[in-house]
Amino acid sequence: MQPTAPPGPQTAPPVSPALLDRAGLQALLDALAARGFDVVGPTLSDGAIVYDRIARIEALPVGWTDRQDAGRYRLQRRADAALFGYAVGPQSWKRFLHPPEELLWRARRQADGFTTAPAPPPPAPFAFIGVRACELHAIAIQDRVFLGGAHQDPGYAARRQGAFLVALNCGTAAGTCFCASMGTGPRAETGFDLVLTELIDANRHDFLVVPGSDAGAALLAALPTRPAEPEAVAAAEAVVAHTAASMGRQLDTVGLKELLQANPEHPRWDEVAARCLACANCTMVCPTCFCTSVADHTDLAGIEAERVKRWDSCFTADFSYIHGGSVRASGKSRYRQWMTHKLAHWIDQFGTSGCVGCGRCIAWCPVGIDITAEAAAIRATPGKGPHGNA
Ligand code: SF4
Ligand code: SF4
Repeated sequence: MQPTAPPGPQTAPPVSPALLDRAGLQALLDALAARGFDVVGPTLSDGAIVYDRIARIEALPVGWTDRQDAGRYRLQRRADAALFGYAVGPQSWKRFLHPPEELLWRARRQADGFTTAPAPPPPAPFAFIGVRACELHAIAIQDRVFLGGAHQDPGYAARRQGAFLVALNCGTAAGTCFCASMGTGPRAETGFDLVLTELIDANRHDFLVVPGSDAGAALLAALPTRPAEPEAVAAAEAVVAHTAASMGRQLDTVGLKELLQANPEHPRWDEVAARCLACANCTMVCPTCFCTSVADHTDLAGIEAERVKRWDSCFTADFSYIHGGSVRASGKSRYRQWMTHKLAHWIDQFGTSGCVGCGRCIAWCPVGIDITAEAAAIRATPGKGPHGNA
């Protein structure tokens, strides 16, 4: 999969890998804060690993990992004090770059007309800590959606502008991960400013760090690093290789677009619709889903009005409502729309798959519907004609 390159410098000067220890990682957080970044990273909250503002490395999920399967997510203690020893939680960076709710405008009635509220000041640029390879691809996909066409989203552009991405090569794969199938991980290859690999064993706890942009190289030069010995570089390679070999799931993508587009009436759509609650969880947790709707509010006195944009989902009946009813009235049509858009039509529309293999939709589906299993089921009994089983 070749995602659209996000804005900003993508080529880094050739720099030898360096090592940061835990104090050095704190120095990285301090340096980003001192440069005015709004630093966001993984933290523990309500039994899950979620992204929030952080200032200290102690706020990271020290010594925790996650166990994930279809419809299941549990935190578990690790035997060590790894800072990034988990896969991905329910949230993605979408929450910050494309937030669940955004005020578009607010107006106030005056005696001779109305005034609009002044535009809010531009936000401080984000610095994201611990961005996984699949998430880099998801950000690149949303860059393509929001910035790559004729009509750019100014709110997204403002939040994305100047963001500093500290990526992390994954050291653990969840039972729901399949980035290796999608060509999106577990190694972070592009779209970051710095990339870390956590090295932890009985003798060391370090982070191998490599810059991915000029901004990353400049920041790295200001940190207390030491040269990485060949053993550290080899250990980092082994971390990624081990993670790639321990993916919890697989998805055969060969001919998948054509397979799904040829099978709009496959009986599996009825079968999955019988289980699907149309709750929209899968679209909320998906790092690439981008659909929204707008809502207008006025106060009871008719003095103030505002328009907000909110995440919406192809699983709601309202989302496809036009005069007279919903275009996608059945659960079957909504699940089919979501999955075929992700894995097939997205390629026609944006040039890449809409799925990066993060596995969130599998873990957070309350009935454990698994996109990899659904695709495999259709592949196992494909239709024969141009319209599949129609
Ligand atoms: S469809 Fe599922 S596995 Fe794919 S990117 Fe979205 S949440 Fe992740
Ligand atoms: S597939 Fe699962 S998460 Fe998605 S709408 Fe259906 S029940 Fe909800």
